[in-house]
This record gives sequence, structure tokens and C-alpha cells, in this order.
Amino acid sequence: MRVAGSFVVVFVASLVMGLEDCGRLIWFANGLLLSYLLLAPRWLWRRYCIAGFAAILAGGLIVFPHALLKCTALSALNMTEVLIAARLLRKRSMELPCFTNQRYLLRFGLFAVLVAPAAVGAVDVVGTWISTKVLDWGTLFTWFTADGLGTAIVAPACVSLFSSPKSHAGVLKKHWYLPLAFVSITLLSFCQKDYPVIFLLYPVVAMILFRLGLGGASAATLFVAAAGSWFTIHGAGPFSRIGSASQVAPTLLLQLYLASGMFLVFAAGSVLGTLRSTERRLRETVSLHNLVTENSRDLIILADFIGNRSYVSASASTWGGWRSDELTRKSSLELVHPEDRGKAETIVRGMQLGSDGGLLECRVRNKEGEYVWVEANLRPVRDPVTGVPIGVLNMVRDISKRKRAEYELMRANAALEALAVTDAMTHLANRHRFDKALSDEWRRGMREHSPLSLLLLDADWFKSYNDTYGHPRGDSCLKQIAEAMQDVVTRSSDLVARIGGEEFAVILPNTSGDGAFQVADQICAAVRRRKLPHNTNPMGIVTISIGCATVIPSLGQQSSILMQRADNALYAAKNAGRNQVCGAALELPTECILQVS
Ligand code: GH3
Ligand code: MG
Ligand code: MG
Repeated sequence: MRVAGSFVVVFVASLVMGLEDCGRLIWFANGLLLSYLLLAPRWLWRRYCIAGFAAILAGGLIVFPHALLKCTALSALNMTEVLIAARLLRKRSMELPCFTNQRYLLRFGLFAVLVAPAAVGAVDVVGTWISTKVLDWGTLFTWFTADGLGTAIVAPACVSLFSSPKSHAGVLKKHWYLPLAFVSITLLSFCQKDYPVIFLLYPVVAMILFRLGLGGASAATLFVAAAGSWFTIHGAGPFSRIGSASQVAPTLLLQLYLASGMFLVFAAGSVLGTLRSTERRLRETVSLHNLVTENSRDLIILADFIGNRSYVSASASTWGGWRSDELTRKSSLELVHPEDRGKAETIVRGMQLGSDGGLLECRVRNKEGEYVWVEANLRPVRDPVTGVPIGVLNMVRDISKRKRAEYELMRANAALEALAVTDAMTHLANRHRFDKALSDEWRRGMREHSPLSLLLLDADWFKSYNDTYGHPRGDSCLKQIAEAMQDVVTRSSDLVARIGGEEFAVILPNTSGDGAFQVADQICAAVRRRKLPHNTNPMGIVTISIGCATVIPSLGQQSSILMQRADNALYAAKNAGRNQVCGAALELPTECILQVS
């Protein structure tokens, strides 16, 4: 269908041009064929070439019925010209014409408007010279002006029309007044020669270029070319008048007018094309930016260094309950917890001085007035030209869940740690904690040359207590002893521990032997005061024995020596009849441990 269409269109163009004798002024047929070739798949070129050749030949033969040889030669030359231009312009089969692209426009001008007419024109000149022995350089000039100009005007208009006819119909419907005004002014300019109003065409062409694009403007120029040629040939229009006055061929003036118009259209069209493609890329970037920011879980805020916000992303409501415009009106640090403001200000000041910002964990007030933990990723915004920091990009993430989990984990760890060093039954420190505390206090005593006292406690006749009252009552009795000890030992630096079945210990840092003895005595009394019945104890109640030792730790000694001495003292207390304290001498050097019974 398209091939047949090309035949009809090219045939009509060559026939009309030939009949009206416009062919030497402007030749449209080649531009028409070229636009078909530039848009069609390359495997169809052969058919288009045959159709084009036949159409030009048929048109020529109708005008010059007796010049078969000349018409055939001219048709062949025209087809060669079109093929040269098409081959050079379309090196790759996928390449489609784009007249708004400056690079393509340059190649089009070079190959289709200059090289192809020059090559074929040269062949024509040589051919004519061989057959007539007349060297006619005017022929070459005609190929340039008529074919080159025709191609320059027709090809862009037809490519635009053939490639997207529907979109043109839509735009034409919207801006119907433009072609109407243009046709009217063209006819008004060329159908008479008394009033030179041709300049009125320029603003309308400009409007057509802006509204309908390069294709529309080329089509408008094509109409001027067709109407202008017809009227000029028939002695009407502004150029025919000037021509007759100045002896310059009116057709040449028209050609120059069309060429300059086309140049103007191409130049403005390519600038417009660049602007439009930049605008398209910008729009793509903006929509991508919106897609990312509006779907990001992070809140994105742009602000200057004073705290004025210029942008807040839409995700504000999903975590803080604020609307974007409410947040935009608030200053940067307004919602930050007062205790965290200092940290934020330090980072912002750093960015002002050239740092790369940083991460900040802080509390921010939500719309309900509660503080929510967030992680703010603060980055400087720099002036695109000078690179000077001009503001802050703040990407805020809600980390309240993470913070809660961290807090729970911390609590669990602390509880676990406490469990690991606590005796489950009495809730006193266990053996593990006792050992560590003793070695810590030993070192401290060594550093400070201060006395360190240790009490070792053992319940009296406890085996028989269990035998009499059973283990559960035995356990409860041990808890009572633990409570009695804690009632007496109240200094925060002291440590009460259960170090065995019914054996306890008290570490008394910085305590003299005298003081330790007094504490031990009070513990004994406290247990007795509880009057826990114990039938097999000669006292009739639960009692305890305490071994008490005091040492000023010194180099070359171990804490085990203190244990050993306290244990010896306990042994002595047991041997001395139980329910009593045996201790070492008071502030004496470690060698002088005394037993007090
Ligand atoms: P002594 O006066 O010489 O200390 O005599 P004792 O019977 O108390 O002898 P010993 O100190 O050896 O007693 C250890 C007994 O303490 C063994 C066990 O019946 C009891 N015992 C140890 N641990 C526990 C415990 O956790 N719970 C209970 N109910 N009894 C315990
Ligand atoms: Mg014991
Ligand atoms: Mg005992």
C-alpha cells in the first residue's frame, strides 16, 4: 500500500512540477522519495526505488512524450540521488530520521542537500558534455538549487507527517487557526505584487514551530514553496516584481528566500528539540525523585542552616502523624528532645564548617506529644556552582522499635548477669561473685594499704536441724540467716555472700579487725534474736559460728591467705563451743593474726 502510495505521490509531484515548469525552480519528488526510504525497512527499498523511478519517468513522459531517452536518464539520475542520500543517512537499518537532533540535521544537510545533488549533477554535466559537447555548469547549479532545496524542504515535513499522522491531526485540531492564518497570508503575499507582505509569514512560522514542531514548520515551508513557485512562475508575488526591476531571476530569489526560511526553521527547531529533550529528561528525573521520596520509609527534609525547611517528603504522616506542610513550617530543632539538641547542633555546625555530616540518634516529638527515637542521617547540601555548604539534607528513620528491642535486650542481659552472680535461694551474692569481689578488694587494699576483713559463717548443728525439721525448713532457716546478716551489714562497699551449703561470708573492705569483730558479733546476735527453734542445739535456737580475719594486703601474698585465716578462726569458734566469733588481732600486720576466743 505504502509503495503504491509513494508511486502516486511522486508521480503527481513530478507531473505537476513538469507541467507547471517548476522543476527547475524546486523539485519535490526526490524529497518525497527520500522520506519514504528513511522510514521504510531497508529490504523494501528496492520496491520503493522501482516505484519512484516509474513515477518520475511516467510524469516526465506525460510532459515530454517524445523524450524517452532523456526522461529515462533523468529518472535514473533522480533515483541515484535519492539512493546516495538514503545510504549515507541511514548506515544502520535501525536508524530513524530525527531532524530535531543537531548531529542528524548536519548529516542531512551535508549528504542529502549537498553531496547527493553534487554527485548526480556532476554526472549529468559530464553526460550532457559527452552527448552534446557543451559543458553546461548551470545544470549542476540547478541540481543544487532545485533538488537540494526541494529535499531540504520536503523530507523533514514528510518524515514528520508519515511517521506520526495521528498526533498531527490532534494538534491541528487544537491549533486549527495557525494553518488557516498561514495559508491565508501565503496566498495574500504571492497572489499579488503590489503589497510586499511576505514578512508576515515569519511570526506565523515561528508559532507553528512552537506548537506543531519541526514537521509542521517544514510543511508550512513546503506550502510556501509550492504556492510561491506557482505564483512566481506565473508572474505574480513579490519576487516577480523585484526580478523584473533588477534583472535577477525571480526564481533564484524565491529559492534564496525558501533556503533562508528553511535554515531558520532548522536552526530554531534543533534548539527547540534540545530544550524539549532536556525538559523531558528533567521531568523523568522529577518523577523518579517523587517516586523515591514518596515511597521511602525515611522522612526526607531539606533545610537551610538557620533551620528553615524548604522540603519535607510525604512520608511524614506515616511515622510522626504530622502533615508535610506542618513539618515544613516548623524549624529544624523544634521537635528534637531538649537533651538531644546539643548533639544535633554540633553536627550542623560541623557541616557549616565543611564536614560531611553524620548519623544522630535522637528523640523527636510526634503529633501526640510523645517522643519517638529516630536516626537522623545528616548530610550537607552544597551550592552546585561554588560547592559551599548551603543547607542540610536530613533523612530521618523511625528506630523506636529497634530502641525498644535494644532496651529489652539490655535488661535481659543485666538480669542474666545478675542471675549469674546471685544465689537463687537467698538472693545473696554467689561464690563466683564472692571470689571476684575478694580478689578486687585484695588489689585495692594493696594499692591503698588499707585493711581488708573477711568473716566466714557456718550454721551450728545444721545437719541435725535438717534431720529434725526436714530440708525445706532447713532452706527457710538459711534464708532467715541471710536476712539477719543483711540487717547488720549495710555499708555499700561490703559484700554478703553464700559460698557453700550453709556457709556464708562477708567481705569488709577498709575495715579493721576490731570493726570486723564487732560486725561478726552483731550478726551472731541478730541470728540469735530471731529465736528460730532448734531442738538439737544446746541453745534450743539456731545459732552460728563466725571466723574473722583481717589483713593489710601486701605484695607477694594472695587473697587465699585471708580465706585460710578466717577458716582457721571459724574452726576455732566451732571448737570453742560454737555460737561465737573467733577473730584475728585488730590493726596488726598480717603475720600477727590472733585468735580471740
Ligand atoms: P557444725 O556445727 O559443726 O557446723 O555441724 P553441722 O551439722 O552444721 O555440720 P556441717 O557444717 O558440716 O553441716 C553441713 C550440713 O548443712 C549438711 C547439710 O545437711 C546442711 N546443708 C548444706 N547445704 C544446705 C542447704 O542448702 N539446705 C539445707 N536445708 N541444708 C543444707
Ligand atoms: Mg558447714
Ligand atoms: Mg554447720
